[in-house]
Amino acid sequence: MKKTLVLIGLAAWAFSSVFAQQQNVQQNQQQRRNEWKPESTEWYTPVPAKVTPGSNGSAPSDAIILFDGKDLSKWQARDGSPAGWTVQNGELIVAPGAGTIQTKDYFGSCQLHIEFKTPTPGPENTLQMKGNSGIMLQSRYEVQILDCDNNPTYVNGYVGSVYKQSAPLVNPFTGTNEWQVYDIYWKAPVFGTDDKLESPAMITVVLNGVVVQNNYILKGSTPYTGLPKYVAHGRMPLTLQDHGVKVAFRNIWIRNL
Ligand code: MG
Repeated sequence: MKKTLVLIGLAAWAFSSVFAQQQNVQQNQQQRRNEWKPESTEWYTPVPAKVTPGSNGSAPSDAIILFDGKDLSKWQARDGSPAGWTVQNGELIVAPGAGTIQTKDYFGSCQLHIEFKTPTPGPENTLQMKGNSGIMLQSRYEVQILDCDNNPTYVNGYVGSVYKQSAPLVNPFTGTNEWQVYDIYWKAPVFGTDDKLESPAMITVVLNGVVVQNNYILKGSTPYTGLPKYVAHGRMPLTLQDHGVKVAFRNIWIRNL
């Protein structure tokens, strides 16, 4: 009899203990629900601006058109004189010796779309002379343009490289005399009032729909000789390089970010 009473007592104690634990869990859940309503983590302003997307690489409605096949009105030479490159059949073509051209507008962080075509190489056009040009973000950070169809040049100078800093992840260049499509996402470097680097530049590059630079953090500018370094600057023009080869461009547009 005594033993039975002890067993009943133990069972009652175990039941009440489990019941109390369940109650605690339910109370905690209810408390969390009270603290974190779904709408606690939702916001409604500012409402994103409506943008009409482009199609087949054409510009979205809020893009700045830098070249639409007609003229060089958005471009100039480095010294401010008229840009000396050729506009022909809707293409903007490097005039070797005319020099690098740059936009009249200044840019910081941006999304850039640009298409290019490298010409049939002559006997002298090997390695870095084979279809070389370049896109200089903020006038100093070069995304390389190069005919990399069977080109045994240094890989950190390949098409899709951040010149002499970061080789492309892969080589999606399709061929000489074929249009290649770059989409570039650029986060400009930030400098403090004392000109000290606060945050470096970062770049993602997509060539022909294939990621070739994935959030690469730049070490500085992209010189031909010497090591990269940062020198403080603000918004700067976008520059296209004259490397002595008649590379053609079309459909250039940019969005400030
Ligand atoms: Mg180049």
